[in-house]
Amino acid sequence: MQQNGDMARERQEMVAQLELYGIRNARVLDAFRTVRRHLFVDEESRPYAYSDGAMSIGFGQTISQPYTVAYMTSLLVERRPSGRVLEIGTGSGYQAAILDALGYEVFTIERIAGLYEAAGRVLDALELPVQRRLGDGTLGWPEEAPFDGIIVTAAAPHEPRTLMSQLADGGVLVVPVGDLGSQQMTVIRRRGERFEHELFHSFAFVPLCGSEGWGDNNE
Ligand code: SAM
Repeated sequence: MQQNGDMARERQEMVAQLELYGIRNARVLDAFRTVRRHLFVDEESRPYAYSDGAMSIGFGQTISQPYTVAYMTSLLVERRPSGRVLEIGTGSGYQAAILDALGYEVFTIERIAGLYEAAGRVLDALELPVQRRLGDGTLGWPEEAPFDGIIVTAAAPHEPRTLMSQLADGGVLVVPVGDLGSQQMTVIRRRGERFEHELFHSFAFVPLCGSEGWGDNNE
């Protein structure tokens, strides 16, 4: 692939493909036009940064496929268009940058130190005001709760109760729930002390580790 300096043409082609796949939300599509995904992957992966695939970011982890990021982000934006959002699984930092481009106040937690540091360097270089924490994201970020939205970018074995408890009233949790091969995208909305569930398509994520995930031996 021939690379232009800013890869604007490749980014536009990715957005056109997302539209073809059914992503309709104009704000989400704008965020994908704005955020330079190639800055969140290593040098060798840059020519492929705008293909619709997941890519390795080291430590056995991946930057999610653009369609998956767009799908989850649309589920959030359509239900809670503004406010404070917590992401579990910073990975490369790309999803956090997309949330920032949408105008959310963004908090993100990563459990692998090498990824936490690498993503921090990119987010700092771009001067994005994303608040970051190293640790087990299944415990949430109690000091900053409640959140209008929580996005879990790894596969949860069951609905994450601690994260649900950190939602604001009317807040929305987007989380893939299921076994390690396939998970159903699940939206959980808090209504007072009740929780409403909506189920969507199946995806395949890396495991959510930690105390309310698959434990710490599933990388
Ligand atoms: N959102 C990321 C991005 O935009 O690049 C992709 C996330 S990758 C599919 C899943 C990430 O979740 C990995 O970086 C993994 O280390 C992280 N993870 C898994 N379990 C976690 C936990 N309990 N707390 C925090 N991060 C976790």
